[in-house]
Amino acid sequence: MNSQTDNLNSPLAGHELYREIADCSKCELARYRTQTVPGSGPIPCDLMFIGEAPGKNEDEQGLPFVGRSGQLLDRLLTDIGRSRESVYITNVVKCRPPDNRDPSNVEVATCADYLDRQIELVDPRVIVTLGKFAMARWFPGAKITTIRGTPLLESGRWIMPVFHPAYVLRNQPNNLPLIQSDFAEVQKLVGEHMAVRKQDSSTNKIIEFKEITDVER
Ligand code: URA
Repeated sequence: MNSQTDNLNSPLAGHELYREIADCSKCELARYRTQTVPGSGPIPCDLMFIGEAPGKNEDEQGLPFVGRSGQLLDRLLTDIGRSRESVYITNVVKCRPPDNRDPSNVEVATCADYLDRQIELVDPRVIVTLGKFAMARWFPGAKITTIRGTPLLESGRWIMPVFHPAYVLRNQPNNLPLIQSDFAEVQKLVGEHMAVRKQDSSTNKIIEFKEITDVER
């Protein structure tokens, strides 16, 4: 392991990235924020969630998903036996857009380097994209209503697109069962990876990503 890898695996590197985000003034969202919302959760972590952008509550507290959407996220996590503290949560952009407007393409692109580095640090087995902005990075041009719940295996990680919790809250009778079944799939994907990892350590053999693909249903 070289020193750069050591650094990337240490929690301190996460803190340095957080400091860099806290000082960021690369786009105009910096003018409106109370504080940045870098992300929360253990580093590394098997399961990572990526939302859209901080809202009012997140901007006030500096933590992701602490408003109504966050309450639904907590409930969905509990349903699959996970606590908020056991998963990593972040957003595509780290500052609240004024009046909760959508982040612009420029703002998403400007913040993308932070997200790249977070993914590298957290090194998740499964990434769950919450809503269309997070999804667009892996499924450009796709419609969320068409592809939600259909995971993609990329570079050894599962990318699972699901509805944004705020979208579910707007039409719970239709959307809640869908996101619940998508979360149940997420739980299976995390388990599949763990099974493959266990097999790897007991046999001491290198397991190719192709074999992980074969585990796919
Ligand atoms: N809270 C967040 O942190 N992100 C969202 O996308 C919505 C609410």
